[in-house]
Amino acid sequence: MGDILVITEHLKGEFQDITFEMLGKAKELAGVAGGQCVAVTFGSMSGKAGELGAADFVISVGGSDDFNPESYASAVQSVVSAKSPSLVMVGSTSMGMDIANSVATALNMPTVSYCADMSASGSGFSVTSSMYGGKMNVVTNVDGSAVAMVLAGAFNAETGKSAGSPSVEDFSAESGDGKIRFKQLIEPEAADVDITQSDILVAVGRGIGSKDDIELAEELAEVLDADLACSRPLVDAGWMSKAHQVGKSGMKVKPKVYIALGISGAPEHIEGMKSSSTIIAINSDKNAPIFDVAHYGMAEDLFDVVEELVEELE
Ligand SMILES: Cc1cc2nc3c(=O)[nH]c(=O)nc-3n(C[C@H](O)[C@H](O)[C@H](O)COP(=O)(O)OP(=O)(O)OC[C@H]3O[C@@H](n4cnc5c(N)ncnc54)[C@H](O)[C@@H]3O)c2cc1C
Repeated sequence: MGDILVITEHLKGEFQDITFEMLGKAKELAGVAGGQCVAVTFGSMSGKAGELGAADFVISVGGSDDFNPESYASAVQSVVSAKSPSLVMVGSTSMGMDIANSVATALNMPTVSYCADMSASGSGFSVTSSMYGGKMNVVTNVDGSAVAMVLAGAFNAETGKSAGSPSVEDFSAESGDGKIRFKQLIEPEAADVDITQSDILVAVGRGIGSKDDIELAEELAEVLDADLACSRPLVDAGWMSKAHQVGKSGMKVKPKVYIALGISGAPEHIEGMKSSSTIIAINSDKNAPIFDVAHYGMAEDLFDVVEELVEELE
């Protein structure tokens, strides 16, 4: 079995969590299947190779620290051509999407998208893809070299975070004179909360009815020492900021307790919160899909329940 390449991601000089998620998994797979776990870094990030202790060694393609889809994909393509790995793990992220498909197309390799789980099986790998916002799982057996696009949050980043001193191989990759130039990093507005770190989330959906009534959910969050989250329509309506949005196009959260108030449970929402340890749903429609993932549910009017709950807890 050949090596497993992990295409690292960095931003402002720091490796992103997806890097460690993939490294932890790649190390586990390499341990079972044989071959080595190899991290590929860009720009000056090889200077931080000590953070990539889960890798057996690091290939540094150098170049610019600023992401450029053309030159980064071209560098990865050169490394993959030269090293013939069994598996290339790329984040299913905005950066990874730019790289994975360019490389796979150029090298005529299959791509497995939305990887939520992976294991070594026989002479290859078994990959579970989470499709249609988590409604359906597809298992693909990969026998031969392939590109796997790994969903952020699929694996535990802590597993891949180990300090060490992997050797660094400088790889001079063809970058060529591409057409794409990096101009500027535009950062989102500073968020008032990081809901990915919350232990308890009170999440509000369209069932809350109006912006003013969000106050009731805030009261519940306050007595529970929780943070406030929401479904997308509330962000689209301008009732809450994007930093609070859970789901496919929002944040992926894993709190100990997730309380869904007036959220129907669309696949795009479920995708962001289904890994919560305990899910409690309150929805007046007993057939709402949120009850399919909830550990506890009440088919009631949220206003009746929340008011009473706040009184009781106070
Ligand atoms: C590409 C794409 C990406 C998307 N990304 C996201 C995303 O990241 N996050 C996200 O959330 N959505 C996302 N969506 C939107 C998603 O499809 C749903 O439209 C959205 O999640 C619905 O939000 P909701 O459950 O709050 O609203 P609704 O579906 O309108 O549900 C409201 C619920 O409130 C209940 N209700 C009404 N009144 C009360 C009451 N008084 N008490 C109790 N319950 C009540 C109703 O029974 C209903 O179930 C995305 C969609 C697309 C196409």
